[in-house]
Amino acid sequence: MNYRHIYHAGNFADVFKHLLLVIAIDYYKQKNKPICVLDTHGGIGLYDLTSEQAGKTNEYPEGIGRLWNDADAPAFVEPYLNIVKELNEHGELTAYPGSPWVVQQLLRAHDRHIVSELHTDDAVALKENLRGQRHSQLEVLAPFDGYEALKAKLPPAEKRGLVLIDPPFESVHEFDDIVTAIEHGIKRWAAGSFAVWFPLKDDEKVGDFYRQLRDIAGLPKTLAIELMVKEPNPTTGLYGCGYVWVNPPYGVQQQLPDVMNYLQRILAQDSSAHARTFWLVEES
Ligand code: SAM
Repeated sequence: MNYRHIYHAGNFADVFKHLLLVIAIDYYKQKNKPICVLDTHGGIGLYDLTSEQAGKTNEYPEGIGRLWNDADAPAFVEPYLNIVKELNEHGELTAYPGSPWVVQQLLRAHDRHIVSELHTDDAVALKENLRGQRHSQLEVLAPFDGYEALKAKLPPAEKRGLVLIDPPFESVHEFDDIVTAIEHGIKRWAAGSFAVWFPLKDDEKVGDFYRQLRDIAGLPKTLAIELMVKEPNPTTGLYGCGYVWVNPPYGVQQQLPDVMNYLQRILAQDSSAHARTFWLVEES
């Protein structure tokens, strides 16, 4: 396990991932009923953008840095940006929240939040970073395998909520593991919403991933959301990212055209930046 998220914290992929996460949770919160959020690959929760590691790759200026400096950011970005601003009260962008931090700021006392992280050192950091941030019923499973957490914790007592699956894609089996996890996950929690983040750098693998997902018997309505920030180039790696979203919350579906238009414009790294959204499995 070599992947450490500190090298990528706050990059365009985190912005895409976290903005949609905030919109989804805010939508669920329109009702007072409790929700459950399971974050299978939690990372460390809080990232120092001034650290040596973040500085080495320096990815955040083309991610959260763009939004931080956008004086005309649309209203739907505000709840997400406010979380980042609260972390950087002095007015300088030096810290970035990971998904467990973002979710914790949004959940209410009666909501449930389960986070797992497998890396031993990151598990320690995650627990430390979330100390004093318990706004909901929080359970940190660390070190713990996220795919095992899905088996152990689904279905939750709460009827509504979502699972975020955000692996590092270090393993050649990651896409296959996700397909298996979704297949079992929807059997355990049919009403649950499952958001899976994935990298766009190998079109063949992504096409195969989509095909495998479509082959899952009884897969509920599933969206594919893709953001391309630059022209694909086999030598430069990641050119975009996406979410496969099983049972996407209606609030996300409604806002997607505006959100993706904004993200494509603000995060573009060249003129070929674009976004596309389509149903892998249509609403029946
Ligand atoms: N979700 C985080 C966020 O948005 O801030 C970032 C997660 S990062 C992309 C992936 C994390 O998964 C890394 O911290 C890595 O150590 C962890 N990881 C790798 N394999 C795992 C597994 N099988 N179960 C749980 N965590 C795992």
